[in-house]
Amino acid sequence: MCSSPGATATHCPYCALQCAMTLTVSGPGAASSSASASVEVSGRDFPTNQSGLCRKGWSSAELLKHPDRLREPLLKNDDGEHHPISWDRALGLIRDRVLATRARYGADAVGVFGGGGLTNEKAYLLGKFARLALGTSRIDYNGRFCMSSAAAAGNRAFGLDRGLPFPLTDLGSARTILMLGSNTADTMPPFVQHLQAARDAGGLIVVDPRRSATAELTSEGRGRHLQPAPKTDLALLLGITHVVIMEGLIDEPYVHRRTNGYDDVVRSVAPWWPERVSSVTGVPARLIRETAHRLAEPGGTYILTGRGVEQHANGTDTATAAINLALLLGLPGTPGNGYGTLTGQGNGQGGREHGQKADQLPGYRKITDPAARKHVAGVWGVPESLIPGPGLPAVELLASLGQPGGVRCLFVHGANVAVSAPNASSVLMGLRSLDFLVVCDFFLSETAAEADLVLPVLQWAEEEGTMTNLEGRVLRRRAAVSPPPGARSELWIMARLAELLEAPSSFPDDPETVFTELRAASAGGLADYSGVDYAMLDAELHDAELHRGELHGRELHDGGAGAYWPYPAGSSGTPRLFLDRFAHADGRAVLHPVAPSSSAPFASAPDGVLTLMTGRLLEHYQSGAQTRRVSDLHSTSSEQALQIHPVTAAGLGILDGAEVEVSNERGIVRAVARLSPAVRPDSVFLSFHFPGTGNANVLTSSETDPVSGMPEFKTTQVLVRVHRPAQSEVVGV
Ligand code: SF4
Repeated sequence: MCSSPGATATHCPYCALQCAMTLTVSGPGAASSSASASVEVSGRDFPTNQSGLCRKGWSSAELLKHPDRLREPLLKNDDGEHHPISWDRALGLIRDRVLATRARYGADAVGVFGGGGLTNEKAYLLGKFARLALGTSRIDYNGRFCMSSAAAAGNRAFGLDRGLPFPLTDLGSARTILMLGSNTADTMPPFVQHLQAARDAGGLIVVDPRRSATAELTSEGRGRHLQPAPKTDLALLLGITHVVIMEGLIDEPYVHRRTNGYDDVVRSVAPWWPERVSSVTGVPARLIRETAHRLAEPGGTYILTGRGVEQHANGTDTATAAINLALLLGLPGTPGNGYGTLTGQGNGQGGREHGQKADQLPGYRKITDPAARKHVAGVWGVPESLIPGPGLPAVELLASLGQPGGVRCLFVHGANVAVSAPNASSVLMGLRSLDFLVVCDFFLSETAAEADLVLPVLQWAEEEGTMTNLEGRVLRRRAAVSPPPGARSELWIMARLAELLEAPSSFPDDPETVFTELRAASAGGLADYSGVDYAMLDAELHDAELHRGELHGRELHDGGAGAYWPYPAGSSGTPRLFLDRFAHADGRAVLHPVAPSSSAPFASAPDGVLTLMTGRLLEHYQSGAQTRRVSDLHSTSSEQALQIHPVTAAGLGILDGAEVEVSNERGIVRAVARLSPAVRPDSVFLSFHFPGTGNANVLTSSETDPVSGMPEFKTTQVLVRVHRPAQSEVVGV
């Protein structure tokens, strides 16, 4: 669906906003879309981004012709260097190593690690490949590091997990938006336009220990920033909920009609009166009360959570507390109001629905559910007994690498665990202790550099497929250029390997055929895609392009182009969930009591110990394997920087620009000190985009949330000291 010759309508390769863009191919080689052609990116009108793109999106095409691009399979020889080999040899070698590993250690000694950036088709086929071609239960993915706590909380409360259960454009009518732990102004800038109405009404409330770019949006009367001590978000939410209950602000008819568990939650928040919460969080009691009252005012209220409150060892409980608050206020499923969580990775939503999670089958089905197993086995044409049971969540899977009884041969697709996994040094040791590591990537990422065999795969603008954005809206990804001759699609790789391994089912390599099978496998599941097809997605886009003016009003009103799941065959999809019922059997939502493990004031950390928070920068995406290679992004942000409060820095003798060491029992990170009042004096901030000595995840721990398996990324105890003084100090300026 192109508006002009050489132009392809598609979506950004990076985050879950999936901004709509047009790729225009021109110059020599344009006719064949070859690598010599040049590709221009322009923003495309779409409800979510309304033509806007961020710097990452604008510069995304630079990677298509990047000199680092992998163009042939690479085998690591005894000299420790990678050398090109043929595809036949690469695939034969994989078959031999898989068979040998299975024969010696059993099928679960082969593992698969997937990614939240893979298309729906790849995520689906990867789950099937692991379970039927490899015969292993050991598959999980990096979405476990992003969305698992929010997903667990959503499933617990609503019986269903879709990040935003309403179109993003609904936020345009909000008077009040409470954003907890999300820095969209940096991570997905075009999102900010949807906050404008709430800002105009003075009702944007941002909860973040850091004065982030998003918190800055509350200045000049646009709202307020609550700056709790790290790891006290749950206490803060309980305090707001306490006020809502005790001061009669709940939506009683809604709570009575649509929820279970009210009495338990009332009891659980009773001990969390504002003054006590203030002593724990540092947020003034007055602001806790004001926030509760503002949320209860009529006129449209939304509560949104992000990784800042979810990436903790109690992340599921914190997200649950946010949902409890939303339910007591009567927000979920009430038009003009809502609760949602903001997905991060490009296909973080679809990637968690179709089978690459350790405990899931396609359609968001539980792998332990006999009916789900029977349905999927029927679609795959295999006996149910051939589908293994649940595997290990990501952190446990990575901890098992090379261990007795653990994974000895690992496939990695769309993930850079050497940088992105917590306790990264131990993950690196695990990767190095494997008998065989295969990594599919288009660059030699830090994980690919460790691989015995690297397989070059396609980039986003070279492939067809679908992605599901943060609203649960299924979108078409389209090929605009031809890939380098030596690169292959991951669907092709899985299909060829399945043949070589004599898998007991068919493995198509055409994306539309895979999607057709995915639709059948998802039919009747929570994430039912059975009524969605490529022709429909293309036609909707075509209509939108032809009749943009006419459709625009509808898009703003109804969510517009794309297909929102659940989308059973014969339906017209579900832009807004929960209007009449929640997904539990009785149709009611569950209020689930939660409590922090400690009520001690956070400031009681030992002297000199600071709390490290990690997060993203405007310029980079995830592990940075792609964006660190984009010249414009790299020139703005090329090295690890530590944000530290000026008072804290003064106490440690650190000047702006000094090279510092950030350390704990797991390792040391080097960074350039950047003095900033945006962080609290008890905290410091590092991004997680840099490898090697700048890798923040060398410091993070393997502790995980007991419900979701989410690692504790956001609060790590560290010490900071000067490694090399600032230049100005050296020359005595
Ligand atoms: Fe949009 Fe996200 Fe891409 Fe930026 S990175 S252009 S916000 S999809």
